[in-house]
Order: sequence, then C-alpha cells, then structure tokens
Amino acid sequence: MLNRLISEDKINGLKKLIDNAEKIVVTCHLTPDGDAMGSSLAMYHMLSALGKKVHVVTPDVPASYLMFIPGAKEIIPFTRFEDFARQLFREADLVICLDFNALHRIDRLRPLVEQSPAEKVLIDHHINPEDFAGITISHPEQSSTCLLLFRVLCQLGYARIMDRKTATCILTGMMTDTGNFQYNSIDPDIYIVVAELLKKGVDKDRIYKLAFNTKSESQMRLNAYAISQKMTVFPEHRAAMIVLTLDELKEFNYQQGDTEGLVNMPLAMPDVEYVGYLREGKDYVKVSTRSEGEVPVNELCANHFNGGGHKNAAGGEFYGTLDDCVKAFVEALPEMDKYVNKNNRK
Ligand code: 5GP
Ligand code: MN
Repeated sequence: MLNRLISEDKINGLKKLIDNAEKIVVTCHLTPDGDAMGSSLAMYHMLSALGKKVHVVTPDVPASYLMFIPGAKEIIPFTRFEDFARQLFREADLVICLDFNALHRIDRLRPLVEQSPAEKVLIDHHINPEDFAGITISHPEQSSTCLLLFRVLCQLGYARIMDRKTATCILTGMMTDTGNFQYNSIDPDIYIVVAELLKKGVDKDRIYKLAFNTKSESQMRLNAYAISQKMTVFPEHRAAMIVLTLDELKEFNYQQGDTEGLVNMPLAMPDVEYVGYLREGKDYVKVSTRSEGEVPVNELCANHFNGGGHKNAAGGEFYGTLDDCVKAFVEALPEMDKYVNKNNRK
C-alpha cells in the first residue's frame, strides 16, 4: 500500500485550514494542462462534497480538448470573468494553488493571490517552489500533481468519500503528465493509485481517447506538416527542433492545445535525446522542450528562455523574433553536448 509520504504536520495544518474555511478558491498555472486542470477539479469535487463553497479560477481559458474533465465547465477563467475572479480572491478564506511553483506562472492572477487575505496552500511537483504559501506540499519526485494530490487526499482521510468524478480528474492528470505512462512512470506507487482509481469506476480508456487521441482535421494536418516540413534534426548534438510561425499556425486554424504532444514525437528517433519546439506567439516565442535520460532541458530553458520545469520536460518564453529564438536554440546545442550519450544508442 501507499506510504504516508507527506509530513503529518502539513496534513494536520491543511486539514485545519479546510475545516475552518467556508469559501475556497482553487487555482493553477496559465494555459492549464491535464495535470493542472485535473488536480484543480479533483480538489473542487472533493471540497464541494465536504460542503465548501469552492471555485476554480484559471488565469486563462483552458484548451477545449480538456473540457471533458468533470467540472471543467464550472471553471472561471480570469480573462473572461475578471471582476468575479477578483471578488472570489478577496472573499476567500483559503486559496489552494496547484501544479505551479512560482507566482509568475499564474500570470495576471498573481496580484490577486498575493493580495488575498486568505490562507494559502501550495501543492505541487516542480522543483524549487517559491515561499508564498503558509503550507507548501512540494514533492518533485512525484510524476504529477494529481498523483501527489491523491496521496494528500488519502492522508487527509477523504479516500472513502472520493467519487468517480474526482477519480477521473486525478487519473487524467496522472496520464497527461506521463504521456500516458510513457515517461516518469516507473514508480510502482503510480499503479497502486491507478488501481484505486479504477475501483472508483474511472473509464481509463475513455480518458485516453479524449485526452490523447481526439484530433480535428486541421490539427492532424498541422502536426503532420510540422514533422514533415518544419523539423530539423541535429545528429551531431543528438537533438531536434520544430519551428512554427504565426502565419503557419493561422493557416492551420491553430487552437490552444492543438500541438500538445508534438514536442515528444522526435524522441522516437533513436539518435534524438532532446527536442525544442519553438512556437511564434504575438508577444513572445513559446519554447517547449522534452528530453530522455540525462539531458536537463530545464537548465536549457532557464539559461536561454526565461523558463524552467523538470529535467525531461521544460519550457520558457523568448522575448524577441522567431529567427533570434531559433538562433539561440541552435547556439545552445553545444552546451548540452556534455549531457548527451554519444556512445550508446538510447
Ligand atoms: P509544456 O512544454 O507542456 O508547456 O511544459 C512542460 C513543463 O515545462 C511544464 O510542466 C512546466 O514545468 C515547464 N514550463 C513550461 N513553460 C514554462 C515557462 O514559461 N516557465 C517555466 N518556469 N516553466 C515552464
Ligand atoms: Mn504537472
């Protein structure tokens, strides 16, 4: 069975905060992914079942491919309901932050969290969490915030009242943050948790279909185009890069989330150990990186793209032209040579 990973002090402190709170706001990072949405909505269902007045406020509108997650339609995106979001943070007794380690990751919600009189709790799995919450439950060794949250909920004694909706949210985040258990997924505890969630009645195959294998025609064509026309392989550095311009994104009617998973695809080549995906935006170039093995792409993103993340999955933002961003990525390749495994194939 699962060990009690989280310190009893933190669990007791969190339990007290929940017991004493009437109004709770749950929030997560900008352009929420499956783990951010899953953990926030799991918390939402659980706390609602406990009789709390709970709202999930996201910095922006979640991608449509995640709207199947139970409760997603109840989310309040700040960009759509600014005044209401402000009011919720002002009146909250407790703010629970999930799946981010630094306040800049919640963008324009930052001042709302900072100025809220509420108690704050952070539950997250990114390294080096900022110290802004009264209780910080940070476990970077956990492959997803959803997995960590499951453990938190069990230690709080809520496992028995966890319903299928909550379990669906949690399994979604566990699956999306591991690419459906392709990476960061050798911890046996993961599968103990999956088994518990399946016992709650979760339809795992349906989550896979909706989160990973549902695509519009233009999305299919965009991803195929990106690989066939816009991918460069650098065999001497064991790296690959994909670049998409704003014009190209427009041509394929790009919607947020349409290229989810694209950055992982070049890792299928035995001679590629890390990948950069550079997507031109209006204000900056979004850089998304993935690696296998010992290549720390979070270091690459921290040093060159104002970003960070995990060793094998990181991202950042480049404030400059797309051409300059490409140049910065290509010029950073030699720095990473010391990490790549040149002798052995993967
Ligand atoms: P993705 O490539 O899926 O957008 O992000 C992968 C991971 O990289 C995220 O889980 C997050 O940890 C990190 N990440 C992505 N974008 C940024 C960013 O702009 N700044 C920082 N610090 N981390 C990021
Ligand atoms: Mn996550």
